[in-house]
Amino acid sequence: MRHPFVDYLEGLLGSLEHVTEGDVARYIPILAEADPSLSAVAVATTSGRVHTAGDADAEFSIQSVSKPFTYAGALEDRGVELVDEYVALNPSGEAFNELSLEADSHRPDNAMINAGAIAVHQLLVGPGATPAERTERAVSLMSTLAGRRLRVDERTFESEMANADRNLALGHMLRSHGILQDRAEDVVAGYIAQCSVMVNVRDLAVMGATLASGGIHPLTGDRVLSSLVCRQVLSVMSSAGMYDAAGQWMAHVGIPAKSGVSGAVLGALPGQVGIGTYSPRLDPFGNSVRGVEMCRIMSEDLDLHIMEAD
Ligand code: GLN
Repeated sequence: MRHPFVDYLEGLLGSLEHVTEGDVARYIPILAEADPSLSAVAVATTSGRVHTAGDADAEFSIQSVSKPFTYAGALEDRGVELVDEYVALNPSGEAFNELSLEADSHRPDNAMINAGAIAVHQLLVGPGATPAERTERAVSLMSTLAGRRLRVDERTFESEMANADRNLALGHMLRSHGILQDRAEDVVAGYIAQCSVMVNVRDLAVMGATLASGGIHPLTGDRVLSSLVCRQVLSVMSSAGMYDAAGQWMAHVGIPAKSGVSGAVLGALPGQVGIGTYSPRLDPFGNSVRGVEMCRIMSEDLDLHIMEAD
């Protein structure tokens, strides 16, 4: 028998069918090919129950939703103190791909904007790691968290690589300040590969539930991240995960979250659930219009706001 919560999720998607505002991302050509009518949601509890609705089998590139996971990987590999020396912990108040660094330290403001994520990619594994080793670390960590082997989509990778001037500019700027040690081209290619990993909403919900449970995988019970690392990742997601809309999101939705330009949103509510949503039309901040609405309504209906006292 179908679980009543699945009916709830189907109803939620149905109630948003009329929402057709926003547009698919176009600056990466392959993202412009996405079917704008696709819509999916998944919720995974930290105790391992997973429910999905809508186009739950649809695969899409993870894009910026990879950032919290490579950040977690770098924090595990290099330690919190070292990573903090390279990437700061404050909201930027600027667009995700802005060419700016902190005034005095020249660090990127946080790991959720592109400058920070490129710096984080360099930190994966350890000094002297090859580009292939860093990319494999990113893909295998995300695979472990999703509970299945994920793959880099070559077409997505090539599409973004052919339009990577902005990220290359960020890479060169970071290297000029000693934040990157390798060739900027290699680090940016690795970052773009991590963004080209294909996932579905179920993967996102399970990955989010792992962060929400302080690093214990909800399906296997294995510890895959330390609780300190999860705390730091969720903290930065809270203040910077939804880009310039992060403050508005915290007030209205109240779930640490990360969005990506493919139309994905990942939420992680400590001790409770991971959420994955997908709908490709984006608002001017670069967040999925329906995804934001799905999360806002679920937060209200299911009492998920982290600041709610009871
Ligand atoms: N790969 C994309 C970029 O670097 C990710 C951006 C995003 O999802 N916001 O521009």
